[in-house]
Amino acid sequence: MQQLASFLSGGWSAGSGARLPLVNPATEEVIADVAQGGHDLVAAFAYARSAGDRELAQMTFAQRGALLASLAKAMHGAREELIALAVANGGNTRGDAKFDIDGGAATLGYYADLGAKLGDRTLLGDGEPLQVGRTARMGGQHVWGRRRGVAIHINAFNFPAWGTCEKLACALLAGMPVISKPATATALVAFRLGQVFEQVLPPGVMQLLIGPAGGLLDHAGAGDVVAFTGGSATARSLRTHAKIVEHGVRLNIEADSLNAAVLGPDVELSSEAGALFLADVVRDMTQKTGQKCTAIRRVLVPEARLAEVCDALKERLAAIAVGDPARDDVRMGPLATAQQKADVTAGIARLAAATDAVYGGTGEVAPVGVRAGQGFFVGPVVRTTATPMTCAALNEHEVFGPVATVAPYSGAAGDAAAFVALGHGCLVSSAYSDDRDWVSGFVTAAAPWAGRLYLGSTKMASQSPGPGTALPSLLHGGPGRAGGGEELGGERGMQLYLQRCALEGDASVLKSLVTTID
Ligand code: NAP
Repeated sequence: MQQLASFLSGGWSAGSGARLPLVNPATEEVIADVAQGGHDLVAAFAYARSAGDRELAQMTFAQRGALLASLAKAMHGAREELIALAVANGGNTRGDAKFDIDGGAATLGYYADLGAKLGDRTLLGDGEPLQVGRTARMGGQHVWGRRRGVAIHINAFNFPAWGTCEKLACALLAGMPVISKPATATALVAFRLGQVFEQVLPPGVMQLLIGPAGGLLDHAGAGDVVAFTGGSATARSLRTHAKIVEHGVRLNIEADSLNAAVLGPDVELSSEAGALFLADVVRDMTQKTGQKCTAIRRVLVPEARLAEVCDALKERLAAIAVGDPARDDVRMGPLATAQQKADVTAGIARLAAATDAVYGGTGEVAPVGVRAGQGFFVGPVVRTTATPMTCAALNEHEVFGPVATVAPYSGAAGDAAAFVALGHGCLVSSAYSDDRDWVSGFVTAAAPWAGRLYLGSTKMASQSPGPGTALPSLLHGGPGRAGGGEELGGERGMQLYLQRCALEGDASVLKSLVTTID
């Protein structure tokens, strides 16, 4: 059995103490283990602050971009191996694994290109030059410069590759050394990525803590950044962590999200926009077994279309084979952990008490290619309620699995937006309509409640990646329940790791200091 180590202070640290198992969620077989702790984190932080900081300080944006390009290339070389690990340790189908791994590599590639565009500078301009004196000679300019600290990355179990890469890309391009901590249960992919990346990266630029966080945040200090993705209960404990409060450590949180999808009143299910809507709902329910922070959980359709939508979902979900994700004919694997299965089962029971069944009962399933009773399997579940605006089980609890609830509404854009708002802040929500007035009314009212709005329509249907795909060029994050954080969004994603500073002085000196993207 493989024993996972952490890459800290320039070498691999086995740790000590009790060992935690990593399992194959389809078979429950233990495939690796990791020490509960026993790492010298004082030394690791000192190493990041000295060696890592020194290496990145010497580089321009273009040079750091080149580093990211070499990471993307190295990742590509290990692609098949990483996919196999995601299937074995994450319960991913091959398609799920590619979504995570290729998404991670593409994000590194995107930021590599951005670094090349930013060029051989070390400061980024923020906005236009300002005249702050009597004449144009005396100018003002906001700039973004490197922060002097450590970027501490804590990731959720569902995207061990993409989560690691998207945070790493932004931090390294901005010039901050990283200590990255993947979720323990699915750490095999991140561990292998660490092995691949350490061959390419200069000393101290990236360290990897595999296993529980332990006292990781006790070492956070002024200038550091914590970027967290995970559940809201863990997020709450981070917000009040003594070191984070004491040092004003910058904290970015990506947490739970009750994303909605709304069908506009003008869309026939048989149309291209209607087909897109159905495909998006089914993909989000089943891709990664619904364990996507961006997945559609709440579906709103005009009352007259409710029965038709439920029938179409039943038909499509019935065609999805659930089982051993290593098999080619399987489209949906198990949940990632026993805890996930317990949480999702409890979530379905809570929802079932307040809604009516449409498909899948409470998630009972006979998975193909797996011995009966083995693995953390839950089948796709669709529920419905006639009263979506007052259904607390629907609007207040995220079920992080293959579960969605479909409900009717009036068709008014304002009502659709009010439903989105009931999620109290989500990462993404989607609306499907070709009626520009309806879309405009929806966007105006729903935008305060979502980090991203995906507008499905006939004209974009053939090019759409679906609302569940976070793109490096667009913001990922959301207000309220979703954590209030922001990641990605091109240059915006770097800002978490940069310090904004207002400069005032001779306008020509200011101009020479700054670069902006053309
Ligand atoms: P989690 O239990 O909150 O764990 C997230 C990460 O935090 C893991 O790496 C975990 O480490 C670590 N952690 C736990 N306690 C900690 C502590 N006291 N100090 C520092 N780190 C700590 O969440 P999860 O079960 O992995 O993920 C599921 C949740 O994540 C879902 O609710 C989902 O909505 C959310 N999510 C959000 C996004 C987003 O982008 N908004 C993306 C994916 C998932 P261990 O694994 O070692 O315990």
